[in-house]
Amino acid sequence: MSANDASEATPTPSGTVAQVLRPIRKRLIIAGTLAAVGSMLTLVPLAGIAHVAQLVLAPQAADNWAQVQANVWQVAGLSLLSLLLGMLLVSLGESLAHLADNHITRHLRRAITRRLARVPLGWFSSRASGEVKQVMQDDVATLHSLTAHFYTTVGRCFGAVAISTLYLFAMDWRMALVSLLPFPLFLLFFRRATKASGKNLQAFGAGMARINNAVVEFINGTPVVKAFGIEGKAHGSYREAVDAFATAFTDFTRPLVSGIANAHAMLTPVAVLGVVLGFGTLFCALGWIAPAGLLPFALVAPGLCAPLLLLSYVMHDLQHATGAAQRLHALLQTPVLETLPGGPARLAADAPIHVEHLVYGYDGQAPVLDDISFTLEPGTVTAIVGASGAGKSTLARLLLRFFDPCAGRICIGNTDLRQIDSRQLYRHIGFVLQDVRLVHASLRDNIALGRPSASQQEIEHAARLANIHSRILALPRGYDSVIGEDAQLSGGELQRVSIARAVLLDPPVLVLDEATAAADAENEVQIQQALSRFAKGRTVLVIAHRLDTVMHADRIIVLDNGHIREQGSHHQLLARNDHYARLWALGGYQQAMQEAQAPC
Ligand code: ADP
Repeated sequence: MSANDASEATPTPSGTVAQVLRPIRKRLIIAGTLAAVGSMLTLVPLAGIAHVAQLVLAPQAADNWAQVQANVWQVAGLSLLSLLLGMLLVSLGESLAHLADNHITRHLRRAITRRLARVPLGWFSSRASGEVKQVMQDDVATLHSLTAHFYTTVGRCFGAVAISTLYLFAMDWRMALVSLLPFPLFLLFFRRATKASGKNLQAFGAGMARINNAVVEFINGTPVVKAFGIEGKAHGSYREAVDAFATAFTDFTRPLVSGIANAHAMLTPVAVLGVVLGFGTLFCALGWIAPAGLLPFALVAPGLCAPLLLLSYVMHDLQHATGAAQRLHALLQTPVLETLPGGPARLAADAPIHVEHLVYGYDGQAPVLDDISFTLEPGTVTAIVGASGAGKSTLARLLLRFFDPCAGRICIGNTDLRQIDSRQLYRHIGFVLQDVRLVHASLRDNIALGRPSASQQEIEHAARLANIHSRILALPRGYDSVIGEDAQLSGGELQRVSIARAVLLDPPVLVLDEATAAADAENEVQIQQALSRFAKGRTVLVIAHRLDTVMHADRIIVLDNGHIREQGSHHQLLARNDHYARLWALGGYQQAMQEAQAPC
């Protein structure tokens, strides 16, 4: 199934399951058929035993004992052959189903990875990692019961029921009817129980997802929470998720447990044998059947309990697997960022970036950016400043195509951002954001993430420029140290690694969003130095909270509540004595700078 296939609408749960399993449908049908035929053959010995008993117990058997013996050997041989062949077919079916399961697991994980590689980067910021982990790991694993066991179990059940029913009806239709009576009753009870709990399955799945998210939050937040001594308050969301899950779990299991208990009571070999013998005695008394004629029913009918019981277990798992398949399908349908046709093969490094009448609102809400227009001239530094919530980070993310604008456009030269393939875009626009994302790999691999073919010299050069080279060398395994294992780095140091990564790509445009936010004073100086070296000669857009860090920018754009309030150089804006001048005065920068310059 390709990602595009996955985006077709599938209204029903079974339709969703069919669509998720489409790549292995044929294999599953063959596996089910092999299991069905195999299960039919494995039941032949039961009929064989009944037949042998009838041969031996026949009144005229003693008269022709040699013939009886020959017949008994023939039946025994055939039974054994059937048993062995049946076992072989069942085992082939099971192996095929497990191979198919292996295939679909790999296929789905790859399809999800491919899909996630195409979703907007902004999708990840608004998505809890627990939710993605549940689908990629847990739900793919849950599907195992459906792919590896469901179809073969259904096949085995179908085979057993079909051959037994045919055989018993061929023996005596009245006895067959009463002997098989417990089974439809079982199915009736079972269906009612699963239907009742099935209604609560979505709530059960949602509760599970909430717990996953809450656990991630709980673990990530524990150090902060403990430090401030607010465990009671801060762990509230985890407790709420646990309580909600407990309720959903009870609603889900209550109808299931009592219903399934009733159903299972109907499906014990003793109960079935009781029915056979009870009615058999009556039918013998009525002269409808000879006592020896009861033997096939006493042997074959109870034998149906095991496969049907197994079916009831996989039906129970099927509900979970259906929920998992639905979540997998939904993830595979996540809207992707399409690249529109008409993009150029190469982007000119000195192309200006035009932001034209940009409008953006999160999730269809009121715009947080409205009618924003400006141009980033090549080789200049433009700073975006404004109060918290003014829309600075949103603007930076739009420039990096974390998401597409609701109206207006951003162009590199004459090319709309939407026409540029993401690899090409991120080679052209590098970024260093407040939220540093590094992968669990060596420092070398982290720096070379965007250019795995980079040489050690190039990597070291980038690290030197980012002021992190000597810190890396001080680690026991240097560039081979793995982040989080033998490389325990501070927030500011991690930020410098992320700068080295951007440096290595050597992009002509750079977006910096509060890059020093996680750093202490010493790190801040190091980061600022690294960024100034890196920014030289490039087109830079810098988002800043502290105005003194961007006072030398070529142009400062002041954002206020999603609108451009004013723009110009630091001195021009101070001279206007408006919004920027007020922010500057509020920040107390003038005073701080005078104090810093005053002789001791
Ligand atoms: P700034 O960077 O200037 O502090 P932001 O761009 O982060 O401002 O936010 C601008 C507005 O958009 C704020 O009102 C903020 O609450 C809202 N916002 C930011 N991120 C999201 C999001 N993922 N979903 C919904 N609203 C958001």
